Amino acid sequence: MNGIRVLVVEDEVSFIEALQVGLEREGFTVEIAKDGSEALIAFEKFNPDLILLDLMLPKISGIDVCRQIRSRSDVPIIMVTAKGEEIDTVVGLEVGADDYVSKPYRLKELVARMRTVIRRAEKSNRNPNFTEEQLSTISVGDVEVHVERYEVKIRDEIISMPLKEFQLLAFLMENAGIVLTRDTLIDRVWGMDYVGDTKTLDVHIKRLRSKIEEEPTKPEKILTVRGVGYRYNKPKSGVAN
Ligand code: CA
Repeated sequence: MNGIRVLVVEDEVSFIEALQVGLEREGFTVEIAKDGSEALIAFEKFNPDLILLDLMLPKISGIDVCRQIRSRSDVPIIMVTAKGEEIDTVVGLEVGADDYVSKPYRLKELVARMRTVIRRAEKSNRNPNFTEEQLSTISVGDVEVHVERYEVKIRDEIISMPLKEFQLLAFLMENAGIVLTRDTLIDRVWGMDYVGDTKTLDVHIKRLRSKIEEEPTKPEKILTVRGVGYRYNKPKSGVAN
């Protein structure tokens, strides 16, 4: 996602550093503001494609920053809240935030949310700073999935797979590092009204492994979490958690 400009508004130094490194590794261009008034200045100067806005900030609160930016721009805003700030979250959405994440969160989860919000904004308002190509690609390790083209690349080699396998892989990768339960996977890929054998999921996982794993019987990408579901392994890096 090269060239997507993210304004990170955050006052916790340890958090800022990890987030900046993680987001830059994902290809984002990052600008930091450490309080509410810096955020408003940086917004004008940096012209971000997305704002990651912490709620609890010195000087001007995240809510007020959101309200002020929203009065002059449709830029996507993701609110960042800590535990116990549910009420503020509701206010945040009322004053125009597009989505929110709660600390602590995983970098992959955050990036997936960021992509979704940007994709949504992109659809309603064409933004010249980034391309559909950059928005539609999910890559984890040496596997890359292109959502719009239904294309999977492993180390630059394109491999083909049926739609359900593709959807399952894309969903697992979008949530890399997070355990997804069998029910969640079945709902997401086959729909809530799925009445087939639950073995269908395992059969699809097996087929995926035969295509993307180096040794399908000793998977290192799609991992089984016994009694729960599956997790796509993410390379060791990124923000805490
Ligand atoms: Ca804070």
